[in-house]
Amino acid sequence: MSENFLTVEDLHAGYGAARVLHGVSLTVGQGEICAILGPNGAGKTTTLRALSGGVRARGTIRLDGTDLAGRSPDAVARHGVAHVPEGRGTFMPLTVEENLRLGAYLRRDKAAAESDLERVYGHFPVLAERRGQAAGSLSGGEQQMLAIGRALMLRPRLLLLDEPSLGLAPLVTRELFGIVQAVNEEERTTVIVVEQNAHLALGIAHQAHVLESGRIVLSGPAEQIRADEQVVKSYLGYR
Ligand code: ATP
Repeated sequence: MSENFLTVEDLHAGYGAARVLHGVSLTVGQGEICAILGPNGAGKTTTLRALSGGVRARGTIRLDGTDLAGRSPDAVARHGVAHVPEGRGTFMPLTVEENLRLGAYLRRDKAAAESDLERVYGHFPVLAERRGQAAGSLSGGEQQMLAIGRALMLRPRLLLLDEPSLGLAPLVTRELFGIVQAVNEEERTTVIVVEQNAHLALGIAHQAHVLESGRIVLSGPAEQIRADEQVVKSYLGYR
């Protein structure tokens, strides 16, 4: 594993006069799953937006040697960063397959993109069953699968997932996290997952960072963070 596949240093970002990130630094190794945890409003979503070019950020975002800070979302996507935002952003009137094809819009290797459709269906058999159905007719869990499947059509080197469990039943969430783990293991896709459900995220992550008021207050191996009762109580407060 390369230690510094992604290096984020002293990242500052916000919305107009509202400053949200006050110098976030973290590294993610190639092929790792990294969880970003923390309370509401801590800046987790803003961190992902800064990484994918959705908000202007100051600082260093170095992905495999290329500095991505200040680049447009399209430019960042061309470097292999796929962002699945909270709320999913699938196109409801389009079919499952049309949504998946849209995920490959930046790719020049159209033939390989076609074969990747089958690869995505392999990860998400329910999407294959429903390939001709409108995305709007899917359940919440299936829509989240579609959003992740669409991101995988980019063949990302870095997959950013924002609150994948939002609004989903526990059983569906567990299935979804199992698939994310399988994608990570089988395709060596590096993943950053932002989650309110710390317990679940720590269950699949290698490393974790706790964000509070726009600053990283704790970083370490996921297992270690999960095992530290004091940390769980003070920072994560999960049931
Ligand atoms: P949550 O789980 O509630 O989404 P979060 O840790 O992801 O929390 P962010 O969504 O990054 O937090 O929000 C951090 C701060 O930035 C909050 O105070 C929020 O109100 C503010 N904020 C988020 N999006 C915008 C926006 N588009 N314009 C202005 N302020 C925003």
